[in-house]
Amino acid sequence: MYPTLGVILDQTVQKYPHREALVDVAKNKRWTYAEWNQEVNQLANALTHAGVKKGDVVSTLLFNRSELVTTLFACARIGAIFNPINYRLKSREIAYIVQDAKPRVFIFERAVEEVIRPVFFQFPMTLFWTVDSTRLNWAQSYHDLLSQAPPFSPLVDVSEDDIYAIMYTSGTTGKPKGVMHRHRDMIEQSYILTHALRLSPEDRGLSAAPLYHCAELHCMFIPRVHVGATNILLHHFDPILVLETIQDEQVTVTFGAPTMWNMMLNEDLSSYRLSSLRLGLYGAAPMPPVLLRSCKEKLGIELVQAYGMTEMGPAVTILMDHEQLTKIGSAGKACLNHEVRVVTPGGRPSDILKPGEIGEIIVKGPCLMAGYYNKQIATEKVIRDGWYYTGDLGYVDEEGYLYVADRADDMIISGGENIYPREVEEVLYEHPGVLDVAVVGRRDIQWGQQVIAYVVRKDPSLTSEDLDQFCRKSNKLSNFKRPREYVFVDQLPRNASGKVQKFVLRSN
Ligand code: ATP
Ligand code: MG
Repeated sequence: MYPTLGVILDQTVQKYPHREALVDVAKNKRWTYAEWNQEVNQLANALTHAGVKKGDVVSTLLFNRSELVTTLFACARIGAIFNPINYRLKSREIAYIVQDAKPRVFIFERAVEEVIRPVFFQFPMTLFWTVDSTRLNWAQSYHDLLSQAPPFSPLVDVSEDDIYAIMYTSGTTGKPKGVMHRHRDMIEQSYILTHALRLSPEDRGLSAAPLYHCAELHCMFIPRVHVGATNILLHHFDPILVLETIQDEQVTVTFGAPTMWNMMLNEDLSSYRLSSLRLGLYGAAPMPPVLLRSCKEKLGIELVQAYGMTEMGPAVTILMDHEQLTKIGSAGKACLNHEVRVVTPGGRPSDILKPGEIGEIIVKGPCLMAGYYNKQIATEKVIRDGWYYTGDLGYVDEEGYLYVADRADDMIISGGENIYPREVEEVLYEHPGVLDVAVVGRRDIQWGQQVIAYVVRKDPSLTSEDLDQFCRKSNKLSNFKRPREYVFVDQLPRNASGKVQKFVLRSN
């Protein structure tokens, strides 16, 4: 028997009513668990009053602000399905999700009003609520509705097997898919993370990575509510603001995708007092070893890596702090109650490869999604015999540590040889003049594909010849893996979770 998300908030409120639950940095506002819980109940009643019933979807398009997490728990209380949407999406992409998820209520950020307005006209059945104080004639005010609603806890029977959320995947490889998770998936995930990160009520966690993505929401935010820790919300990621907030709010734990850690380390760290920070979680994309070493050296904190995907809740493997430098490049070992195998790509779960052999990573665990929303065939394609086929390639070593080579879709085949872009990127990252890099395959008549590197320079005088010489001298790349062309760009196309959208580069 698992509790629901509504129940874990109840338990925390009972234990720590006067502890600080939320700090919204941009609004300079603070809530204790008792105060926040009252807002959660009011919103749950306001949603019910607006006609939201158990099983209805409530979408949000919000920065990391209190209203987003209040909506999550208000939905959990009434069995409604929470659907956080990426605020960087364009009208057409949002309309795709609204068409798919059919929310009853859509709560949005005034800053993206122009993006939402065309969506409003397309979906007359959805009620639009704005969280800003200025009035709009086509959307109701979230705060007015909330303040008019009673603060008692609504009595709706919600079970561990009910769907708690539809989370859309990052859309790194194409159109995002709506992943359905149950309450119990989140409780299991929370047990794993509170244990791995040793979270306690004394912790002050910073949410600087987007809360609409499962990495921040499921690995950090929900576990922190579970234990009664404090949650400091930054509307957006900004490296300087993150460092200032760590200092001012005495932050102890935070999560960042590798690119976020990279941006922080490029700031002058000596200007900040960061001694409160004890642990950093990273994941969602590969972390280049040079960046990992520099994180350890410059910040001197514990580092924990999680590898996973929205479909799995997300974490499936974890690399603990003491393993960071001995197992560099590894994503760690399977989480509690999880299993990880490497099989022949697309093969059966029993087609297990030997240690060191690269194949498809398949995973099994209690936080596996209930399926893709409205996509039965796509679901059956990825879940077979209870195993989730990740589409990632990798291998396990003799000791059972997983190494993620790359996504199968990103692998380059040149002259019949398999090339994993991540390996080439890691070498290029070691060049001091390189800030960011992505390697892709470009179609080529003679070789099938050719290796092309897109590079963001730290040093503007850096040339293709310098990089080619660097690769040759490194002795880490065979001839056929060396990029045949370098393209210098101002920035890489990254989605809001910090991942490079290689399909954009391939279509150049
Ligand atoms: P879409 O499925 O829509 O294309 P996506 O796969 O990027 O998008 P997510 O569920 O956010 O959506 O990301 C999961 C993927 O991110 C994994 O399959 C893997 O390729 C990558 N990933 C996650 N964590 C790590 C990690 N620690 N190291 C390397 N890659 C990682
Ligand atoms: Mg994916």
